[in-house]
Amino acid sequence: MKQMTCAELGGSCELVFTASTIEEMAVMAQQHGMEMFQVQDASHLEAMQNMQKIMQTPDGFQKWFEEKKKQFAALPDID
Ligand SMILES: [Zn+2]
Repeated sequence: MKQMTCAELGGSCELVFTASTIEEMAVMAQQHGMEMFQVQDASHLEAMQNMQKIMQTPDGFQKWFEEKKKQFAALPDID
């Protein structure tokens, strides 16, 4: 298992997610993002706007995701 924070995954807080794959990690971050969206958390809304800008560019999300994949791969494994 590896750990990444909300901020490292395109969010804005230091909440830590624990998962064994980057895909799993992304799902957890997305679910947390939706919860934050529901309560209209200002800093997360801003982070989401930035992510939307990334998604609007061709290959933007793919490149971002590749970057996160590398970051994830470089992380130490925890029990
Ligand atoms: Zn967060």
